[in-house]
Amino acid sequence: MKYVDEYRNHKVAKKVVDEIRRIQTRPWVIMEVCGGQTHSIVKHGLDYLLPEGIELVHGPGCPVCVTSLEMIDKAHAIARHPDVIFCSFGDMLRVPGSQADLFTLKSQGADVRVVYSPLDCLKIARANPEKKIVFFAIGFETTAPANAMLVWRAKNEGLKNVSILVSHVLVPPSIAAILQSPQNRVQAFLGPGHVCAIMGYREYEPLVARYKVPIVITGFEPLDLLEGTLYTVRQLESGRADLENQYVRAVNREGNKPAQKLIWQVFDICDRKWRGVGSIPKSGYKLRYEFRDHDAERLFEVEEIDTKESQLCISGQILRGIKKPHDCPAFGKECTPQQPLGATMVSAEGACAAYYAYGRHLKREDLVQVA
Ligand code: SF4
Repeated sequence: MKYVDEYRNHKVAKKVVDEIRRIQTRPWVIMEVCGGQTHSIVKHGLDYLLPEGIELVHGPGCPVCVTSLEMIDKAHAIARHPDVIFCSFGDMLRVPGSQADLFTLKSQGADVRVVYSPLDCLKIARANPEKKIVFFAIGFETTAPANAMLVWRAKNEGLKNVSILVSHVLVPPSIAAILQSPQNRVQAFLGPGHVCAIMGYREYEPLVARYKVPIVITGFEPLDLLEGTLYTVRQLESGRADLENQYVRAVNREGNKPAQKLIWQVFDICDRKWRGVGSIPKSGYKLRYEFRDHDAERLFEVEEIDTKESQLCISGQILRGIKKPHDCPAFGKECTPQQPLGATMVSAEGACAAYYAYGRHLKREDLVQVA
């Protein structure tokens, strides 16, 4: 299949790894930002292929994982309303809040529905004029245009019973927060290809200039990730800090201008709380004033909620590249995909879930038997 098989060629992969081994003179810590990249790295065992000393740590780029517990509890409070149809992408249904998850609420009678596009909510709203339709708008810049389109169309069609609970997060401020942390050990980044397909990569240029850190915008197939790693190691070994684009087949500097125009029509920048990380200035989107009648947080008055995180979960440290899933004492024991304690075990893009799915909770000898 075009754009898949050609990026999974093991002979080319071996050449790229050999080249990394040839130029590497010392250990380096590189963070892949995006959860899709983490999943691909663990699925294909790319971290095991790389030479010793090239350590890949897993970043905050799984939107399900970083949606704050407060926001999840707000979603649950809204979904409990008897006149609400609460719509969400499927992967949010199992994310644990302080008391339950959306699946549990659904089993208790709440009208919680999985949709495959935010625009499905328009059909539900037209068919149920007596109900309030709320969409859980989470995600990075990648999902923002479709969520913006939902609100824009609802306003323009006069559908007053449609609102969204906004929990959008933005990648560049999260990279800045990681680099500013006194505990930071990340020396270079594989940048998020999907996000840059929408936003372009120009907004990463100030990060490279300010923090003198290599950033390579990278795709999601095994050869993309190995090539992105090669580019970063080349920069690190030569003392350079540049912005490079490995993912040229999908990303350019300017990005998708019509999608960006829609985002700015509907959303403003705001501070945002990230699960396990805390508040990061200017790291989220909120609805603009003109769209306040479609703002679920305002309409349902769920602004202040007390939350309770698991004491065992170290996902905040994992999302900042300080620790890895098997450093968590609960990994594969108290915490599994069937009974997740933290969000990074729920989403397929979460580092803990990816490690579990591909047997990283097993001993190497057991892993061979499973394979
Ligand atoms: S294994 Fe579970 S408890 Fe541990 S960090 Fe991951 S999500 Fe949290």
